[in-house]
Amino acid sequence: MLATRQVALGQPTVGEEEIEALREVFASGWLSGAGPTCVAFEGELAAATGTAHALATSNCGSSLHLALQVLGAGPGDEVIVADYTFPATGHSVMWTGATPRFADVRPDIGTIDVDAAAALVNERTVGIIAVDMVGQPADYDELAALCRSRGLWLLEDAACSAGATYKGRPAGSLADLAAFSFHGRKGITAGEGGALVGDDATRMDLARKLHTYGIAPAVSREGSSALAVPSFDMAGYNYRMSDVQAAMMRVQLTRLPALVAARTAAAAGYAERLGDAEGITLPVVAENRTHPYQSYLVTTDDTVDRDAVVMALRERGVGSNFGTYASHVQPVYGTQDVCPVSARLFATQFALPMHANLVADDLDYVSEQLRDVLADPAVRR
Ligand SMILES: *Cc1c(COP(=O)(O)O)cnc(C)c1O
Repeated sequence: MLATRQVALGQPTVGEEEIEALREVFASGWLSGAGPTCVAFEGELAAATGTAHALATSNCGSSLHLALQVLGAGPGDEVIVADYTFPATGHSVMWTGATPRFADVRPDIGTIDVDAAAALVNERTVGIIAVDMVGQPADYDELAALCRSRGLWLLEDAACSAGATYKGRPAGSLADLAAFSFHGRKGITAGEGGALVGDDATRMDLARKLHTYGIAPAVSREGSSALAVPSFDMAGYNYRMSDVQAAMMRVQLTRLPALVAARTAAAAGYAERLGDAEGITLPVVAENRTHPYQSYLVTTDDTVDRDAVVMALRERGVGSNFGTYASHVQPVYGTQDVCPVSARLFATQFALPMHANLVADDLDYVSEQLRDVLADPAVRR
């Protein structure tokens, strides 16, 4: 099969404005992390996410690690984690010495099943990490009620959800703390990068200190009249975002509404072209929320060989991959937890090209190729 077009699975949207911002930060002379450009980005990110405080970090994993430490998770504790996710979520719990307990997910949107989470709560449980599934927010009101009644904290893995809303509230403001990713495959990006956001000043101050080796950031000592010599009272990390990345992120943040709108339009375009295709279910958006479509995940039914579909699409120039991971089956966790819905999504979902640069001809091509592939008895069983 000859590919007459190539359509990338994902693609960042970056251009002249980012290059201009890089020129400016180069000229400023401050390239390292936690500097003036990071401070400016943090103010803008807090405003965009409806939170009181934002901390620019090296990635989402480090943000989750900081969050878990300031919320309180350590050896002997259990943290309930949404099972269907990139395993950074479970890994971050492992880094603290606590044990991740994996909760199954909703079959329609892949976010944590609140009843499954409730069933895992015991005297060792300290909190819950919900994941905004490829951007779509989880059931935060129900999760908050559960956490309140059992004395738990709630952490939002917002790696993919910049620009999403739940009941009109922006992703990032939906739990006690939230962690974003700005990896190249996410909705806004500096290549790598992340952020922690939240309203609680005490927790955010502690996270800030931990993210720069356990002292106040150097920018806070700029211009002091006496020589400021910090002393170290905790073994923090270098989880800083560089000011070079922050310069890019400030531009990306201004692009966010347009990028979400473009991906939403692409999703509507797929729905128009593929809504009646047999053997697959297109993604749905649950009530009271908006989906920023970091990825576009299609679910195959029992008559379709998912792996064969992905390989056939690739052969035709259409970027495709499996959806995301069931965590409980990953050997690293050695868990007894069972999550049949997540396991099924892991086995049956696949991703179609989704980014803000798709044009109608791309959507036509992808949809025609997928219909053609699904009509091939070789991918049917
Ligand atoms: C991408 C992703 C992460 C990891 O983000 P990094 O910035 O690479 O650390 C964590 N959680 C989810 C749900 C993700 O999709």
